[in-house]
Amino acid sequence: MASILQCMDCGRQYPTNTVIYNCETCSGLLDVKHDLDHWTRRADELRATFDQRLGSLDAPYNSGVWRYKELVYPDVDPSRIVSRPEGSTNLYHTPRLASWAGVETLYLKHEGENPTGSFKDRGMTGGLTQARVLGMNNVACASTGNTSASLAAYAAWAGICGIVLFQNKDVALGKLAQAVAYGATCIRIDADFDRNLELVRQISETLGIYVLNSVNPFRLEGQKTIMIEALQQLRWQTPDWIVCPGGNLGNSSAFGKALHELHEIGVIDRIPRLAVIQAEGANPLYQSYQRGFDRLEPVHAETVATAIKIGSPVNYPKAVRAIKWTNGVVEQVSDFEIMEAKALIDAQGIGCEPASGCTMAGVRKLVNSGVIKPHETVVGVLTGHILKDPDATIGYHRDELRGIHGTFRNLVHDAEPTAESIRAILGGEITAPQA
Ligand SMILES: *Cc1c(COP(=O)(O)O)cnc(C)c1O
Ligand SMILES: [Zn+2]
Repeated sequence: MASILQCMDCGRQYPTNTVIYNCETCSGLLDVKHDLDHWTRRADELRATFDQRLGSLDAPYNSGVWRYKELVYPDVDPSRIVSRPEGSTNLYHTPRLASWAGVETLYLKHEGENPTGSFKDRGMTGGLTQARVLGMNNVACASTGNTSASLAAYAAWAGICGIVLFQNKDVALGKLAQAVAYGATCIRIDADFDRNLELVRQISETLGIYVLNSVNPFRLEGQKTIMIEALQQLRWQTPDWIVCPGGNLGNSSAFGKALHELHEIGVIDRIPRLAVIQAEGANPLYQSYQRGFDRLEPVHAETVATAIKIGSPVNYPKAVRAIKWTNGVVEQVSDFEIMEAKALIDAQGIGCEPASGCTMAGVRKLVNSGVIKPHETVVGVLTGHILKDPDATIGYHRDELRGIHGTFRNLVHDAEPTAESIRAILGGEITAPQA
């Protein structure tokens, strides 16, 4: 049976060759639904298929998204697939960070290791592939930065025209540079992300442009593979917790759907709990969680973690569903906690951008409040690469970030061009070998 689009609220269905983002009847969000029944009681076979493809040199199975094609887009013609390839990111076992956070076992899945430096590539391969299926020649998004970088790269790779709208401030330098360099049409607008997303949807309808924000359900199918790949890396042993930052809530939604589907098929026999971590200054999901998920109240977003500076997350209903499916929780952390956690992750030699710091800061906070138990196994997702936002990193170490007086600062020393001057500095830093 072919995959279909289905409204998450009223259940109305649409064929996958329809250009549509919300239900025509009730404007609910759409899911891509696959024929999972086909795999029920055949979980062993599915796991074996995925395992056999590890290390594959050939497209599309050399991709950490399309390795799981059966759960991403089973009936798509492989010749349509637009892949760099992406995924196959490392899962780091990090005992020192684990002990800082207060758990025995912590793994960090580094999505900053994707081709353009963020998990957005996993969604974009799904989105651009669908653009090709639909025969669309233009794709567009509004972005806090990484979606633009990813769309620009994947559109260029596919030979399709890419258009990105972003706010006139707060787009991190690395991301802006990528969008420009990859050749997208870049439009800077004096408005926040939420307004830019509205604009993108308005122009797209009239200009025949395919929208690739995370309201696009094909992007979420690609992002599901962060979960599938992490589970495979754990030899299909289920951890107790999955922890990720929450901005527009595409990832949380995708993770919930992945875990729900894997459990239905029987690939995993229990569902890990999902913890979504928001920045205090951009916390509409957290606030709603505190009120028992009564409704989404948009906020004016302000945070050092610009990737999650979003006041009105479009995937809110799917994220709520994901948290209910996984018996999940929502936590918030301050900009100080975010930058401290980032500094520690950086100092392990791993590195990440500020939004990813939420993950670690959130784990620590949830352990302190007793929600995550010290003996539980945690998989945290690092969403973006350290080079994305050099200003935030340097600002932290120079003590130039407003209101953030970091405790892990690494100062740059200035020396005279003499050996003496350098020795004077190193004298205080290193121990001389014993004679
Ligand atoms: C997009 C992004 C996020 C937010 O993810 P959502 O799926 O929108 O919640 C977090 N971190 C980074 C680095 C991102 O690029
Ligand atoms: Zn509907």
